[in-house]
Amino acid sequence: MREDVSASGEEAVERLRTLLRFPTVSRTDGSADADAFAGYRAALRELFPRTFSTLHVEAVADDLGILLRWPGRSPGDGAVLMAHYDVVPADEPGWQHPPFAAEVTEEDGDRRIWARGAIDDKNAVAGVLEAVEALVAEGFEPEHDVWLSFGGDEEVNGHAAAAAAAVLRSRGVRARLVLDEGGAIVRGQFPGIAQPTAAIGLSEKGIASVQLTVRQRGGHAAHPPRDGRTATSRLAAAITAISRPSRAFLPPVLEAMFATLAPLAHGAIGFAYRHPALLRPLLLRVLARGSDETNAMIRTTRIVSRLQGAAADNVLPETARAIVNVRVAIGARLDDAVEDIRRLVGADVEVEVLSGNDPSPISPVDGEAWRLLSEALAVSHPGVIPAPYGMLGATDGRHFTGVGPVYRFFPFELSNAELGGLHAIDESIRVSSYLRGIRFYEALLRRL
Ligand SMILES: [Zn+2]
Repeated sequence: MREDVSASGEEAVERLRTLLRFPTVSRTDGSADADAFAGYRAALRELFPRTFSTLHVEAVADDLGILLRWPGRSPGDGAVLMAHYDVVPADEPGWQHPPFAAEVTEEDGDRRIWARGAIDDKNAVAGVLEAVEALVAEGFEPEHDVWLSFGGDEEVNGHAAAAAAAVLRSRGVRARLVLDEGGAIVRGQFPGIAQPTAAIGLSEKGIASVQLTVRQRGGHAAHPPRDGRTATSRLAAAITAISRPSRAFLPPVLEAMFATLAPLAHGAIGFAYRHPALLRPLLLRVLARGSDETNAMIRTTRIVSRLQGAAADNVLPETARAIVNVRVAIGARLDDAVEDIRRLVGADVEVEVLSGNDPSPISPVDGEAWRLLSEALAVSHPGVIPAPYGMLGATDGRHFTGVGPVYRFFPFELSNAELGGLHAIDESIRVSSYLRGIRFYEALLRRL
């Protein structure tokens, strides 16, 4: 069925397409198309002129971050809406439509926009700004301050969001709600629940880079140690030791999820949702075997992402190094995860935490923020059930710990196929899904 798109909706679609055409790609080697980033930021000002003239605008992190403050009518705890405008590279072959052309196709009466960033996360930047622009035009002012924070390096390090959060902390800003990217509105994403659900992340796993180093005297590869113990073989043993799955447990965020879903599910699954403590061993087995994602929910994971040995083919390595990407389960602590690694690899392997942070605090499901999100959802997406969950990936939202309770949610309806476009080829969004997302932001802003 064709979404009834008004003239203003058509203009919103064109604005999103304009913004999607800037190749604001973040790369881990630090190279970036500076003109694309500057062009994107200039385009925002042109496309949303009322917003950029009415709100207080400041640049953070060398212009990479854009922080806007919409003054409220009265003092009191404000709110922060976040999103990021950088994207991951789109170099993979096989795109049906060029990733920065924002081409539109039509199927079954609904149009689709194809582009890198269509669902991660330029749709949220533009969606928030569409809602603000419309409300400013009608003379609306929020009850309390509303901050908009748009980062330009979420996909690499999130320095812009960290800088924006530091600005808010330095000014003593307390938010009653911080909203960043996260779960989406998807059918069938929770077992046993027939209704479409909005997955709202209450927390995210911790993330760390841990370096393992083994040192040994070097020499010629033609006469290696008789026992075969080289720096690389000792490192290999350490990697094997940490590659075993860590202990599984039910993170507290899952209890909130089960409690919300329990009244909606029937049969064995409904019983399990209602009695998670009783069925803990069974639930852990089901989740461990369910999928890579459900397995990652219930434990800290460790994978070796990078390896380094000798500098040449015929040299005994003096040092062998591995970088372990650690994702700390919600409810666990980074320090304990590092202790586990030390214990598993043994004393002759050096263990160094290069960077890392604990899992984020769990935002409440019984407070004002959750109520505001639920009310806005009921306006934009009637019948959709808000469901708390814990995010596996890291978002810019983690930098806002301490500013206010952080919720991680995209108000966009996505199919599993569309979710498959995240960080992959053929990223796209349906026009109807995008326009409804704007309605969510508008409904939320009216309540802030
Ligand atoms: Zn993202």
